[in-house]
Amino acid sequence: MAPDAHCRYNSVFVFVKNPAQGMLKRFIDRLRGRRAAAPPSVKKARIIAAGRHGITRQRISSAAVKVLEGLQGKSYQAYLVGGGVRDLLLGLTPKDFDVATNATPEQVRALFRNARIIGRRFRLVHVLFGRETIEVATFRAHHEQDDSRNTTNAQGMIVRDNVYGLIEEDAERRDFTVNALYYDIAADAIHDYVGGVSDLEARLLRLIGHPETRYREDPVRMLRAIRFAAKLDFDIEEHTAAPLLRLAPLLDGVSPHRLADEVDKLLGSGHAETVLALLEEHGLLHHLFPNLHLNDASRHLILATAQSTDARLRIGKGINPAFFYAALLWQSVQVRSHQLHDHGTPLVPALQQAIQQVIQHQMTRTALTRVLAMTLREIWEMQPRLQNPDIRRVDEMLQSPRFRAGFDFLVLREQSGESTGQMGQWWQRYQDANSDERQALQDEVLAARRQPGNDAPKRRRRAPRKRKPA
Ligand code: ATP
Ligand code: MG
Repeated sequence: MAPDAHCRYNSVFVFVKNPAQGMLKRFIDRLRGRRAAAPPSVKKARIIAAGRHGITRQRISSAAVKVLEGLQGKSYQAYLVGGGVRDLLLGLTPKDFDVATNATPEQVRALFRNARIIGRRFRLVHVLFGRETIEVATFRAHHEQDDSRNTTNAQGMIVRDNVYGLIEEDAERRDFTVNALYYDIAADAIHDYVGGVSDLEARLLRLIGHPETRYREDPVRMLRAIRFAAKLDFDIEEHTAAPLLRLAPLLDGVSPHRLADEVDKLLGSGHAETVLALLEEHGLLHHLFPNLHLNDASRHLILATAQSTDARLRIGKGINPAFFYAALLWQSVQVRSHQLHDHGTPLVPALQQAIQQVIQHQMTRTALTRVLAMTLREIWEMQPRLQNPDIRRVDEMLQSPRFRAGFDFLVLREQSGESTGQMGQWWQRYQDANSDERQALQDEVLAARRQPGNDAPKRRRRAPRKRKPA
């Protein structure tokens, strides 16, 4: 949006609901013997007309334009909605484009070649254009408790949401006001049913409706509040923020798959540092990572990891999600491994068992993929070997495809003040060295081990196995 464009929208209000439609539905409901639904309130949309907002067609992906125009060409209503509109208005580049329509999923699928219906809890159509996917959702309505197409469980959580409705109903069941702005590409106008434009100007994240009910319907909204507040640098409006601490335990009822997806988005948002601070402030962090041990050392490590991840994302580099889990749960692994060692388990098996237990416990909250769990295990298991390497095998370790992640983690631990014998620096120098220098570096380690008072476990040659007498 041009800097002052959002201040100049016009104030045309339109009635979009056809009252006769509501009367007819109530009449049919009565004939069918069903309890008539309360008439939905007639909602006015504030229309921000062409030229009075910053959205231009060029900033919308051509795939999204094709979907919008394809639907409108067949006389369906179709709008760009959600993060696409919000981010364009804020001058950001949207991550993806979502479309809302009055066409049913089957009608949408019939219109586009590469379209498939996905989801059970919430049916949607994915329209694929090469590597881009446009998500098309049919307008959802409010629903009655006893409607079998929609269900909430005993905790008030929505477990299915597939009753279709009108655009203004769709707006009200979205999460935040700034996520419920509808852009009509044909008229080049924004339709705002929930005050999203003024919240956007005030940089406020406000839940639509009664906050506690909305969090109970879907506790993941609590995490979405944190993610958007961090990403957009918005304040969470006071009534939206107030219940978070009290309702945080609702996260325990969310499926580990959904939570894992959300954690990936939170930590990969490019604002992990703010995300972690907000998750902690609102009491959500421990419900995502129940094993978390926070003390000065682990805080430094987690902060260093968040900062390095955010910095990598800023310059367009990829990140390894295993790294985050490694930092967040490292302290737990150490505590557990010390406990096991104190009870007589030797060091190496103690570490392995601790890792196994911490991963298993974490999986009850966030479903880690097999690859992620394996990488995590490798990063942790490598730490003692990197800190106290077998000098004859350093070159072999360096060649290992797993070396990089383990080494990067060692460096982060070192930078955050953990005592690692400065071996992170040593490995860095070793990688940069020529073969003579490498020999000197190896000698350095061996000499340090011979120093009196060096309490690093001494590496011994394994004694040749005695043959059993025949
Ligand atoms: P981004 O794509 O940048 O992460 P987004 O706002 O587009 O942000 P999506 O997850 O793509 O988020 O969802 C698209 C839209 O669907 C949202 O903007 C919101 O209107 C609606 N939505 C998504 N998840 C929920 C939810 N849990 N409850 C209510 N509405 C939701
Ligand atoms: Mg989106």
